[in-house]
Amino acid sequence: MSTDLKLTPLNQAQSLIYSRTNLRRAYQDFDDSDISGIYLSDDKVVVVRNDGSDQSFSVDPVRQSFVDYTSRLKNFFAYLGPNFRGPSIWHNNCYVMFKGWHYTHALAHSSHNARLQRQWADKFIHITDANKLISLLQAPEADIGHLVAPDGITRQDDTIDLDATDEQEEKNSSPVQLQPYCSCGSFTRQLENLFDFAAEIKGFEPTCIHITWFKRYRAFLAKRAEVRSTCRGQVAQQAVAWWYAPPADHLSKGKFLVLYTTQGSMAPIKQWRTYKPNEVFTEEHAWNLFDNMLDNGFVPFPGQALPQLSGAFKK
Ligand SMILES: [Zn+2]
Repeated sequence: MSTDLKLTPLNQAQSLIYSRTNLRRAYQDFDDSDISGIYLSDDKVVVVRNDGSDQSFSVDPVRQSFVDYTSRLKNFFAYLGPNFRGPSIWHNNCYVMFKGWHYTHALAHSSHNARLQRQWADKFIHITDANKLISLLQAPEADIGHLVAPDGITRQDDTIDLDATDEQEEKNSSPVQLQPYCSCGSFTRQLENLFDFAAEIKGFEPTCIHITWFKRYRAFLAKRAEVRSTCRGQVAQQAVAWWYAPPADHLSKGKFLVLYTTQGSMAPIKQWRTYKPNEVFTEEHAWNLFDNMLDNGFVPFPGQALPQLSGAFKK
């Protein structure tokens, strides 16, 4: 080992950033075996091997890998509940967001987690204690979802009081910067070590895959509503129907099928065409396909919502 190296042990935040997995993500040829310790030395990450040798790496690519990985976008189905249900509004500007247990494989519908989601989906609103709700969602034996507030949590006493005086009104309406929140482990660790993360990463804002997905899903819904509102009358003339069959096993991908028509969403089945019949689409394509449809003025509908197409998709 070079004798002039002053090795500083990592704090909690640093150990989450400069982990062996993030080193591997940042440096493709990084060998993650035989590591006896990871340290910081000035502006380098120093990896010390079991044989006493060491290697230094620039911190920036590793920091970037941490940020990219923590905020990566998971596929469209990754956080949908039963019947393609999106996040449900709970209290205080929070949402219950399910893990996509129904879409992990062909028989996932009958899994323990999926059944729990169907049992509980409409009951969470009756639970008013956030901690109780979070433990129901995240208990290891349940593991069905998270409590997410992409625009921050509002407290109960922030709701408008009709009898409030002007002075109180002013106080209540003063702009409070609410920070996004998620109950997942990744987000919680960032919150708990916020100061140390901010010292490490310039402009650090805690985030997670759930907040990223939620924002993307909400943008999709807003875009869909906008395209729909420009349709003449109640019926979308340009319509897309989509179906999804989860992967048959853990080695394969699911199947995402798209039909379209310019004759209205209620058109009989013979007026619908398969979109790019020679291509195979999976869950990985869904976000982009939805974007393309909407950019071209087509309104997507889950195929199961259009009874005249019930024979179109056979598993
Ligand atoms: Zn999260």
